[in-house]
Amino acid sequence: MSMKLGIIGGGQLAWMMKDAADKLGVELIVQTPSPNDPAVSIAQHSIFAAVDDAAATEILATKCDIVTFENEFVNLAALSLLEKQGVCFHPQLAALAPLLDKYEQRCYLRDLGLPVPQFLALSGEKKLESQIENLGFPVVLKARRHGYDGQGTFIIPDFATLSKIVNQTHSQFLVEEFVPFTKELAIIAARSVNGEIVIYPAVETLQKEQVCRWVIAPAQITQEQSLQIEAIAHKLLTSLQYIGVCGIELFLTAEGKILINEIAPRTHNSGHFSLDACETSQFEQHLRAVCSLPLGNTRLHCASAVMVNLLGYENSHCDYQKQRQQLANIPQATVHWYGKTEARPGRKLGHITVLLDQDHTNGVEEIIHKIESIWYPQ
Ligand code: ADP
Repeated sequence: MSMKLGIIGGGQLAWMMKDAADKLGVELIVQTPSPNDPAVSIAQHSIFAAVDDAAATEILATKCDIVTFENEFVNLAALSLLEKQGVCFHPQLAALAPLLDKYEQRCYLRDLGLPVPQFLALSGEKKLESQIENLGFPVVLKARRHGYDGQGTFIIPDFATLSKIVNQTHSQFLVEEFVPFTKELAIIAARSVNGEIVIYPAVETLQKEQVCRWVIAPAQITQEQSLQIEAIAHKLLTSLQYIGVCGIELFLTAEGKILINEIAPRTHNSGHFSLDACETSQFEQHLRAVCSLPLGNTRLHCASAVMVNLLGYENSHCDYQKQRQQLANIPQATVHWYGKTEARPGRKLGHITVLLDQDHTNGVEEIIHKIESIWYPQ
């Protein structure tokens, strides 16, 4: 009998599990707000409800063996009642608990001895000036919860801007030093039910206006830096007793120092290259880990690869057939189109991966440029 996996969230991250689910004989059942969400088309069954609707998750749990997440905007307190009643969550809720609030996540990493930027939680009780006096401008202000793709993250040049945003918004905030990084890096790691850990090659990512534009695998970093990043992943996943795939975003500074920016307790945009470029994609790896199957090989089966996000740039219902066809004609390219019915500026509509036969220092900029000039209007 096939394994039935419930997924909280039905966006593109769940949608990209389809091929792996077919291969492994796993049935997918999603909990997602709208019938238009990408994963509805690939799920055996869908429950239409917000991802933080624990009553809907209770119904989801009756239809599956294990519940996993493609989205971390859940109501952990409500879910823990279900866990107590015997619902099996992978990763377990205890592994998610320190990660969902960006301030608590930073504290957890710091207490583990892992490198993070200087940070603090803003308190309404104390004067703003005195709280941030050790940081100096610019600072980075982040909503403690529900931030994604740069929503809720602000790079703040001066005190007047900081106090305006803090006073106008009712969110709880984390403030941290601005890291003048030379590169942003990321790594995808997976841990199985019995503690085995596998790690993908570290990648370089580029964010514009806090949204990921492209990813190059593998990152051009020293072997020592690679080992240091792998050690971070090992320590973190072991300490959390994590089950599943996890994305770790990092900064590399001019002095060669590595700092953790953020942990995403799920599959991650920086790992999409693995669908086309690795023996086991991050999506298959996640299914393997949460369904207690042996983990797969994370090796690249090409010299390098570049993944470029296809971000919305207008409000439209267009399906961009013509641009997609032109992109698909690029040699060694695969276009992944998420089938969203509505485009909006900044919305992730799809991505393209191009495999490269050689070291990516040759020609990768031209490929990115070519893709972006086909995709974005001039
Ligand atoms: P989100 O959760 O919305 O993805 P992040 O915290 O990952 O937000 O921030 C998005 C981007 O903002 C990062 O990829 C990076 O480019 C920039 N950023 C975030 N924190 C810092 C920082 N402390 N210093 C410099 N840039 C930062």
